[in-house]
Formats: sequence, C-alpha cells, structure tokens
Amino acid sequence: MLEQVSSLTQKLLKGLMMRKDIHPDYKECKVKCACGNEFEIRTNKEEMTIDICNECHPFFTGSERSVDAAGRIDKFKKKYNL
Ligand SMILES: [Zn+2]
Repeated sequence: MLEQVSSLTQKLLKGLMMRKDIHPDYKECKVKCACGNEFEIRTNKEEMTIDICNECHPFFTGSERSVDAAGRIDKFKKKYNL
C-alpha cells in the first residue's frame, strides 16, 4: 500500500516538473499596503493590495501595537478577567 502511494506521488511529481509550460508568466507586481508602503515583487498578478507589510507589522516596527481588527484580544482578556 505504502509503495503504491509513493510511486503515485513520484509519478505526480514527475508530471508536474516536466510540464514547464503550465507555469504562469511572472511579472513585476506592485504591492500596495494599507499603511501606504509600496513595493514590487514578482508574481503572476499585476497588482496586489495588502493590509500589512514589513513596514507596518509590529514585529518589524518594534512597537507594541497589536494587530487586532476584530477585537479578539479584548474578548480574550474579558473572558479570562485579565
Ligand atoms: Zn504596511
């Protein structure tokens, strides 16, 4: 059973690797973030808008501002009387 599965997997992988023409065209993509930051990546889309990027994510800014749009942290705090 296991051998059957792995040989099937190998067949699938081979098929994927050989069909190079199925890959979409990669182009320069302008990414716009909600904070106003813009940068370019290469992807198959021409434009993208995102809510958060490396410029405004608290992990990179070092600020304590939490990303809590839905108020989940407050709910959690309430629930456990924090
Ligand atoms: Zn941003």
